[in-house]
Amino acid sequence: MNRVLISGGSRGIGAALVRAFAKNGDAVAFLYRENDTAANAVASETGAAAIRCDVSCPDAVRVAVKKAETALGGAVTVLVNNAGVSHIGLSRDLSDAEWRRVIDTNLSGAFYLCREAQGAMIAAKNGRIINIGSMWGKTGASCEVAYSASKAGLRGLTMALAKELGPSGITVNCVEPGLIDTEMNAALDADTREALIEETPLCRIGSPSDVAAAVLFFASDAASFITGQILGVDGGFAV
Ligand code: NAP
Repeated sequence: MNRVLISGGSRGIGAALVRAFAKNGDAVAFLYRENDTAANAVASETGAAAIRCDVSCPDAVRVAVKKAETALGGAVTVLVNNAGVSHIGLSRDLSDAEWRRVIDTNLSGAFYLCREAQGAMIAAKNGRIINIGSMWGKTGASCEVAYSASKAGLRGLTMALAKELGPSGITVNCVEPGLIDTEMNAALDADTREALIEETPLCRIGSPSDVAAAVLFFASDAASFITGQILGVDGGFAV
């Protein structure tokens, strides 16, 4: 049985991850920023522990990892860095605060969690870290400069940590979703959404469970010799 910590588990892809790991028989704790109602619903449905924590705050992350260890009955063995925010707009209009919000959540938050969780994994000589990137981190998205930069940063973080932590028995991989049906895309207008689907070779929007399946694979015994890899779950969009 894994002890799994997932950031951003209250909604969307993260909630699907909580459900999938819980169904797998793993002990699961998840972090969320502010949506108590959604977090409590996922927790009561799955039996997972919900912990309120803004991942962009390193002190809050330290406390949250300790709380997760208590809730899980031991150190985290699988960490999934999924919490993320997006911002759409011209780069010339992007404020310092918006730039920092996106980078601090998507990239720094993942780093803070990796830093806190790795000590126990190194001691156990066993661990799995899975980062949720985005196809925009590979291709870049117009009018999403901070988001694309944060997700490209996760590629570097994944590969560097895979090399650093491999000798300690820890694998580090990244899943890059394409267009997935969650609230994150609620701001997309119908034409943009249709255009993205048309550009997707598999001709559909993805579901959170499509992403969960890839994450569960990286956490499984079948993936024990795979590290530093970046797997697109995007219907072929970024090929
Ligand atoms: P979502 O539906 O908007 O859910 C975001 C989740 O992240 C929520 O649980 C939210 O908590 C949490 N969160 C946001 N900021 C946080 C913070 N500072 N600290 C802790 N938790 C925070 O997003 P999603 O579509 O499921 O996306 C999940 C991940 O997949 C993100 O990293 C996103 O970039 C990536 N992704 C998504 C798509 C897509 O098309 N949906 C495509 C590629 C990549 P609250 O509920 O409390 O707000």
